[in-house]
Amino acid sequence: MDTESTIDKKYREQLFRCYFRNPILKGSGKSVKWASPCPFCSPASKTESRRNEKVSALIWVDAWNTWTFTCRRDACPHRKLSFPRLIEELNPQLYKKYQQERYHAGSTGWQTNCPNPRDSVIPLPSKHQEKQAKSKNSRSQGTGFPRSNGNQRNPKSQGSQGNPTGADAPQDEDQQGI
Ligand SMILES: [Zn+2]
Repeated sequence: MDTESTIDKKYREQLFRCYFRNPILKGSGKSVKWASPCPFCSPASKTESRRNEKVSALIWVDAWNTWTFTCRRDACPHRKLSFPRLIEELNPQLYKKYQQERYHAGSTGWQTNCPNPRDSVIPLPSKHQEKQAKSKNSRSQGTGFPRSNGNQRNPKSQGSQGNPTGADAPQDEDQQGI
């Protein structure tokens, strides 16, 4: 557990302060967990003893150097969550901050438990470009032969042919299905 990242530690402590009642560290070495009442399903329990029962745990996953949340109650809406998903379910705004910190630390994306923030993604091509790309695709599907380079000189005449080639697409799918 000594390899818990400083970011995870900071946010885990924040979650503990706000959402977990009296978490207790159990185990030792690499197999440790924080046991506590579940932040999702325990408050709805009818009796005080049921509410205090330590049914959930934040379990250390050594191979991933991170925590996984689990709850053992069948009726719990979140019986298993990765640590980032746990933050997101409890507090979406806090999750955004967490994700940004992870992103700037270079620990989001491929082979991590945290996806890249959306605004880090390369912007989509403009609508005009998108339209061009789409019409090119449907045209080549419809005619069944590649356009020669000569046609690129007057793209207007291509467009005015107005072949509603989209109708061909479902047939292709059917053939693939058989
Ligand atoms: Zn639960």
